[in-house]
Amino acid sequence: MISLAAARALIAENISPFSAKAAPLAESFGRVLRQDVFAKEDLPAFDRSAMDGYAIAADDNSEKFRIVGETQPGATPKLKIRHGECARIFTGAIIPEGASQVVMQEHVRVEGNFIVPLKKHGGTHVRRCGEDARKGDLLLKSGARLGAGELALLASLGVTRPKISPPVRVAHFATGNELIAPEQKLKPGQIRDSNSTLVAAFVRQFGGEIFKQERVADDFDLLLKKSRGLKKSFDLLLVSGGASVGDYDFGKKLLGALGFQIHFEKISLRPGKPLVFATRGKQAAFILPGNPVSHFVTLHVAVRLALEKFSGANISWPLAKTPLAENFDFRPDARETFWPARVKIENGELVARALRWQSSGDVTGLTGANALLQLDAGAEAPKAGDVVSVLLLEVP
Ligand code: AMP
Ligand code: MG
Repeated sequence: MISLAAARALIAENISPFSAKAAPLAESFGRVLRQDVFAKEDLPAFDRSAMDGYAIAADDNSEKFRIVGETQPGATPKLKIRHGECARIFTGAIIPEGASQVVMQEHVRVEGNFIVPLKKHGGTHVRRCGEDARKGDLLLKSGARLGAGELALLASLGVTRPKISPPVRVAHFATGNELIAPEQKLKPGQIRDSNSTLVAAFVRQFGGEIFKQERVADDFDLLLKKSRGLKKSFDLLLVSGGASVGDYDFGKKLLGALGFQIHFEKISLRPGKPLVFATRGKQAAFILPGNPVSHFVTLHVAVRLALEKFSGANISWPLAKTPLAENFDFRPDARETFWPARVKIENGELVARALRWQSSGDVTGLTGANALLQLDAGAEAPKAGDVVSVLLLEVP
């Protein structure tokens, strides 16, 4: 049995990022950027007005300014502003030669062809050339996930085909004779397969794409046949159930038969001790303990790292400190514990609340989980008000 930290090190060491591809911006949302992006020119590329108003020379203290022309966004002004003169100007327009300040239109009185500034207070209202970034500045690093803000930056830089990682191709088998599809009617002894839905949502959230997902009975030969059939079509194989040592837990044997090299098969982790990780060439596989809570935890603390490594993403392990809102039913354990929790704002303060966790099979406690309370091996139960460690699940 190894620690979670050691297990994560093995995952990180044994998966390498696959090659990047250039793709249009419209297809890059949520993908991982695989190139450093530099400013090709100064940003902004010219002095521009930050306000609608009148452009004057900042050191011109005339009482009145004659309006000698107008300059609009997108136009190249041919004006030259002299002493006692101004130009009508709009937000985003180039500051004309001779001008260095924009007086807001709210701060002038217009008298025919003249303006009288009522106040020329603070700020020039000019966005200076290069004030956001200088030509050659590093603006986005390889490994960043492309959200709305990052894509907007790429568009503004003219990087229209960034190099990105394609989605990680994931195949998933949910094993168990007791499993039925969620829409089917339960017979005694059966349970609805919730892990397939959980895995599909998780994979989608963290940069993968499920291209194959199937429930399979506890039948080793059948599972082997189906897995062999996948050949090289996947990057990551996930098998739910069959990770522990019951008579029907054949995950390890399966991976052996498929030619995978096993890197670990047990972690000192609660829940989720029986977790198997293996690789075959560039492909990786996990056998996940079937219990829904174990599933949820191992997906976040182990599988997510594999998805990040494949796609060359920055590794996320956002462990933060926050007070515990109330006591919960925690008993010290020899394993490191990750307890489903919700971090929320209460009375203006961020606090963590442990969610209900009756057993590893208890799905009712997973609703609203946006964090995992991290408790060291052997740690005493924290009390309300104690500062605890939480792994935030949605922050990259
Ligand atoms: P296993 O890891 O196969 O021993 O399964 C552990 C527990 O999780 C058993 O109670 C299973 O019935 C349950 N379980 C396994 N797979 C699923 C699934 N896909 N959805 C919901 N529960 C499952
Ligand atoms: Mg099973």
